[in-house]
Amino acid sequence: MSIAQEIQRIQQELTQSAAKLIVVTKTRSIDELKETLATGLMDFGENRVQEMVEKQALLPSTVRWHQIGHLQTNKVKYIAPFVHLIHSVDSMKLLVEINQHAQKNQRIIPCLFQIYIAQEESKFGLNQDELIDILHDPIFATLQHIRIVGLMGMASFTEHIPQIKKEFQSLKTLFDYVKTEKIGVATGLVNWEEISMGMSGDYLLAAELGSTFVRVGSAIFGPRA
Ligand SMILES: *Cc1c(COP(=O)(O)O)cnc(C)c1O
Repeated sequence: MSIAQEIQRIQQELTQSAAKLIVVTKTRSIDELKETLATGLMDFGENRVQEMVEKQALLPSTVRWHQIGHLQTNKVKYIAPFVHLIHSVDSMKLLVEINQHAQKNQRIIPCLFQIYIAQEESKFGLNQDELIDILHDPIFATLQHIRIVGLMGMASFTEHIPQIKKEFQSLKTLFDYVKTEKIGVATGLVNWEEISMGMSGDYLLAAELGSTFVRVGSAIFGPRA
């Protein structure tokens, strides 16, 4: 199937849910990105800053670039002028840096907190207590150039569906908690509306469990080299 056909198939599967499709374009060629754009989809996800910056320069400014991978503080300045949503905020230090560069660019950068939900050592992210601590930190309320719009999580790299389901449910439960309790909302910098979870192998499950952003790459383009 062509890129357009795969995207259409996935969009069809997602129509019953609230999940929006982010096409994960890391490692894919500019031609593949242009072919994707031709379908009308504009939300592209990249996990490496340099690659995002290079591609951004070659594509229309209408593309919405999502930073989905771990972000180092010293790289924030390169994406701050244009990034649409940063999914991977996992520290106060990073948030302060994003705020600083957003201010320099006279913009507000929307962000998600990445929450650690997997049973693996290698994944980045915050636990519930760390999340609440950041939101209650007096410094947080001063960051006028960021907006927190939700949470992101990555499930364990496993085929064991009950495990993945449990991890997605834990993210949804945490999201429902911060939303209901309006955690951080009094700062005016927080609006709990998005849950970014689900990739090629589990986007349908994620959508059923409340995801609002699924991040899909190989199900559209085939396996990465
Ligand atoms: C690569 C990547 C994806 C997409 O992975 P696929 O299995 O190709 O769909 C989603 N989220 C993050 C954070 C990624 O790095």
